[in-house]
Amino acid sequence: MLINSAVDEVKKRENSFKIINSILKKHGREEFYDLTGLAGGFKLNQSDIDLLETYAGPAIFESQLQEAGKQHLGGEKILAFNRTTSGILATILALVKQGDEIIHYLPEFPSHPSIPRSAGLVGASYKEFDNIDDFKVEKNTSLVIITGSTMDHDIINEDEFSRIISISRSKNIPVFVDDASGARLRTVIYNQPKAMDMGADIVITSTDKLMEGPRAGLMSGKAEIIDLIKSKAHQFGLEAQSSIMVGIIRAIEKFSGERMLEAFQKKHAVYEVLKKEINYIKETPTGIMLSSEDLIQELKQKDIKTEFTPDDVACVFASLLLRNYHILTIPAVGMPGASTTIRIDLASGDAERVDNSYIVKAVVETFSHLGEIANYKKACELILYGNDLE
Ligand SMILES: *Cc1c(COP(=O)(O)O)cnc(C)c1O
Repeated sequence: MLINSAVDEVKKRENSFKIINSILKKHGREEFYDLTGLAGGFKLNQSDIDLLETYAGPAIFESQLQEAGKQHLGGEKILAFNRTTSGILATILALVKQGDEIIHYLPEFPSHPSIPRSAGLVGASYKEFDNIDDFKVEKNTSLVIITGSTMDHDIINEDEFSRIISISRSKNIPVFVDDASGARLRTVIYNQPKAMDMGADIVITSTDKLMEGPRAGLMSGKAEIIDLIKSKAHQFGLEAQSSIMVGIIRAIEKFSGERMLEAFQKKHAVYEVLKKEINYIKETPTGIMLSSEDLIQELKQKDIKTEFTPDDVACVFASLLLRNYHILTIPAVGMPGASTTIRIDLASGDAERVDNSYIVKAVVETFSHLGEIANYKKACELILYGNDLE
């Protein structure tokens, strides 16, 4: 194995930041292509910046956040967090006790690690399903979680969404929707209703996924549940500070689904060309992807064996793509436990600066480069962790 622990994941991430730093210094921002779909941003005005104080800021931004948040997510009351992960933790701390059960339905595994980790922290039992027929509420179930769109952008089917809400409601169990990217993918690309309009009690979205906002969590829900969660959030320091609040407000004001719809059109062309070279490549709603398992299958098909795990191989691929083509994908910089799927998101702001042929060339050549080193531990480690002598 190449990546053996969360510490190794952190080292890999640090190395990627070194590479990005050197690309930015040598070539400038114009030749760095962040295609993660998570570029984030703070589109603030000078008057916003002048108000970034502990109390004056929230006094002004809180009411604007309520307006903007409800426009984006529906619901009665809005609460902002430092990250989506923080909002998930606060919700589970507020609504679930030791010995309770959390059940989680998602269109496709794997789930975001923050959900099982938070369940573990409060001592709740945790079950997850990706087949609706296995979904079953127990006597001690105190929270139902639905993932609207997974980390790999698999989208929930609207009928299944409604079914889970009605089963949970009939038993008076609150439904929390993790709509990190779904709040936009589901609604803009698939015309599904907002989670609150589907009957959810709480929803959270990540304001840097398919949106030019800070990496933060924006929650909406029924007022009395939000109040419970808000009190937990303050107790543990999970709530957003004024800079994040105003970053979220400006991102919502700026958001339009147009770029996502354009990406939806454009990705198919890239996919059609790439498919001829890389058999296992798949389409996502706004881009293309290769999961770690698919990468291994693709190598096998080309008679290349590797002793490394699928996750290792995907991370090497992402590092090569970054080093040689300046294209950033999530596995190069993912937090410990994050998905290792190579996803190229054409709704990313930087996608406007790369043409389809550059993406095709980068993926095809990176794959062949991967094939050359997939059996050499030293070479792979050098790509992942860099060389301290550099
Ligand atoms: C991204 C994501 C999260 C967590 O977002 P962070 O900003 O990393 O905290 C949670 N759930 C899903 C489904 C996600 O895609």
